[in-house]
Amino acid sequence: MRIDVLTILPGIFAGPLDEGMIRKARERGLVEINVVNLRDFAPGKHRVTDDYPFGGGPGMVMKVEPIVAAVEHLLSVGPQPARVILLDPAGEVFTQDKAWELAREQHLIFVCGRYEGVDERVRRVVTDEISIGDYVLTGGELPALVVIDAVVRLIPGVLNQEEAARQDSFTTGLLEGPRYTRPREFRGETVPEILLSGHHAAIARWRRKEALRRTWQRRPELLQAAVLSPEDRRLLEEIWAEEGAR
Ligand code: SAM
Repeated sequence: MRIDVLTILPGIFAGPLDEGMIRKARERGLVEINVVNLRDFAPGKHRVTDDYPFGGGPGMVMKVEPIVAAVEHLLSVGPQPARVILLDPAGEVFTQDKAWELAREQHLIFVCGRYEGVDERVRRVVTDEISIGDYVLTGGELPALVVIDAVVRLIPGVLNQEEAARQDSFTTGLLEGPRYTRPREFRGETVPEILLSGHHAAIARWRRKEALRRTWQRRPELLQAAVLSPEDRRLLEEIWAEEGAR
């Protein structure tokens, strides 16, 4: 996969893209990530990328010409078809389903807004508008990093255990249940015996049940949308009996 990120602050990306899984994925050629300075596409000596809003009001607006010129250039040099993603608080809220969808693409171009956002006409060259949640950040760089991180770990070959990604919270429609590692006892709290039993089927049943319990306790609305088997429904009955509620 090729990922291009358009920004006026390329320095923000040094660090997050150079560490951990993303660094390894880049080194192994599973993903190529280019951080592109939008100012390189702005004409004139001062390389201006923003201007005052028509109609007045506070703040500046990012100009349409440099963004469209940069997107058109990146479309011409990278694989087609590409998804052009504008980070925007008014966009579709990012989900794990969207991450899986984007992970199947071969070319993603991220457009990071700043100031009061981008000129409305930028949307003509955009295929997707993504928000990472109902709050406002100073720019689209952190949202782009969030989306890139979630997508890159789903590219085949990036995670050591592909199965881990398929069992993630949200991918299964449920939250993931509790996890433990050594020591077996910490400050009087012990690891559930079943996890030490070596009984794989019983462990799988326990994990499924605890995922159901956690989802019911913390995000019950997810259960409405999840595909539940008859066994899941039996496990939920057990949970409700144990928790003394319905
Ligand atoms: N005036 C805009 C509004 O009320 O929608 C907010 C602009 S914000 C200060 C500047 C840029 O940050 C946006 O153009 C967008 O690229 C990015 N941004 C801020 N919050 C975001 C969010 N929750 N999700 C995605 N992008 C966001």
